[in-house]
Amino acid sequence: MNRVADNRDYTSGTDNNDFDSALGDLMSIRLLAIATLFVVCAPADAQTVVVKNVHGYALQANRVEPFAAMLIREGKVDRLLSSEVAVPSIAGASVIDGRGQTVLPGLLDAHGHVLELGQQRLQVDLRGSATLQQALDRVRKFAADHKSNRWILGRGWNQVLWPGKQFPNAAQLDAIVADRPALLSRVDGHAIWVNSAALKLAGITSTTPDPSGGQILRDASGKPTGVLVDSASTLVERHLPPSTDVDIKLALHTALTELANLGLSGVHDAGIDSRSYRMYQELGREQQLPIRVYAMLADSPEAREVIKAGPKPPQFEDRLEMRAVKAWADGALGSRGAALLEDYSDRVGHRGTMLYTPAELQLLAKLAGKYGWQLNVHAIGDAGNRRTLDAFERGYTAEQRRLLRPRIEHAQVIALNDIPRFAKLDVLASIQPTHATSDMNMAEDRIGRERIKGAYAWRKLKDAGVRLAGGSDFPVEFANPFLGLYAAVTRKDREGQPPGGWYPSEKLTREEALRLFTSDAAYAAHDEARVGSLQPGQWADFILLDSDYFDIPEDQIDDLKVIATYVAGKQVSGKGK
Ligand SMILES: [Zn+2]
Repeated sequence: MNRVADNRDYTSGTDNNDFDSALGDLMSIRLLAIATLFVVCAPADAQTVVVKNVHGYALQANRVEPFAAMLIREGKVDRLLSSEVAVPSIAGASVIDGRGQTVLPGLLDAHGHVLELGQQRLQVDLRGSATLQQALDRVRKFAADHKSNRWILGRGWNQVLWPGKQFPNAAQLDAIVADRPALLSRVDGHAIWVNSAALKLAGITSTTPDPSGGQILRDASGKPTGVLVDSASTLVERHLPPSTDVDIKLALHTALTELANLGLSGVHDAGIDSRSYRMYQELGREQQLPIRVYAMLADSPEAREVIKAGPKPPQFEDRLEMRAVKAWADGALGSRGAALLEDYSDRVGHRGTMLYTPAELQLLAKLAGKYGWQLNVHAIGDAGNRRTLDAFERGYTAEQRRLLRPRIEHAQVIALNDIPRFAKLDVLASIQPTHATSDMNMAEDRIGRERIKGAYAWRKLKDAGVRLAGGSDFPVEFANPFLGLYAAVTRKDREGQPPGGWYPSEKLTREEALRLFTSDAAYAAHDEARVGSLQPGQWADFILLDSDYFDIPEDQIDDLKVIATYVAGKQVSGKGK
């Protein structure tokens, strides 16, 4: 995985983002045999399935199409039946009685980080621990449950939340884990807490000098306490064993299984290396891809060779495809890395950082165009967005733009006169509705009241004819797609703030929001003929919900629960799988 790239992408606002990336790369837990953990996902067969007694919603080009029953053949939608039509009885068909529940197309997350989510799930999670003791209790339980891990890794502690606000120390951790090294990252990723075994392995003693850009916290006698700040962390981190293929496969599968349980039938993995792609292929061969993966290859020197070999066509019954390249034009707003055309409102003289020169970005677009790749560029600041639009304008031909559907990932802060350029240049905006509601206060501090008019400006983009796609950017945000639907429709955070919604003129309708996470996301992956709207001929990827998305009060959208997720007509989550 591309650590630099992930660092850039993971700092999109909230304070603990650096941390996600740092640990993602460090992860390499030695794992139990994985075969027994995997769920078998059989390929589609000739079986006919009848889904009946549902409040179903399919998507036509310009409207929502209700249905009461659906016939599925060989994993694909054969017919949708309205409530007026009798459900035929088909010999040998298996029947799913929806008991009046709601059916929607399977949701798609157009921007997430699968490996990083899986890696987080394989570490001890210390976020929200209210006392040192609570954090230690979680470590104790995790260590007991993961006896074969050579290292105990974790993340998310924050001593500021603990009584006394004291940094923890190695001795406290030694009392829980003494037999192997333990490394626990602080919530912001800027410090690690380690045990004595880790200090010993790294050879850190009283005489070890602080490295430049870092600090080894010490007691009154000069002895290291077990907390290493910033670059001092690498003294321990460099001793972590590298991830094995088995580690990566387990992390990918763990994440995909979680996503399936959340109602996602597909995900666009926003920046992977070729090794992760190979692991996806292995999972595919083993029939262990519960949901569909549209992979973006992270730009790197190594990736340039893969680009020249051409895109990877769909495999495993359309469960894996890699025809997009991911690049990072700038940083994030929270850390003031997003590139702005004018100074930050809260830091005079600072405009963030472009990570490619205009010429480099244009060259990358040209390369992608030449070899038939979609190029998806992370751009958060208005300068990042403008330079990326410029690169698409000059690097791709008009025909390539039309065919290859270039995307700007995030498209968070856009100069108002650049908004129509997205439509004119056939550039899609891949947005994350929850970023708006997580970032809203911070964003306005960073860019002020004028520029905020072009920030998270979904309605302005739509009105300008720009095609959108919706995602979450998990694990920076929660992967639960209903939080994204809720944020898109209400522009409120989960506490319901602000009461009328943040810049409510930018709200989307429920149908528009649903399309972001279904048919629009499918379009952004060239997949609209195969998935996303439950039209006949498409894969029967759908979810059963506990309430009617179109009928409940909008403040309850974030509480919707998925009862089951189906991919190609087969249940991949929930009870009775
Ligand atoms: Zn991302």
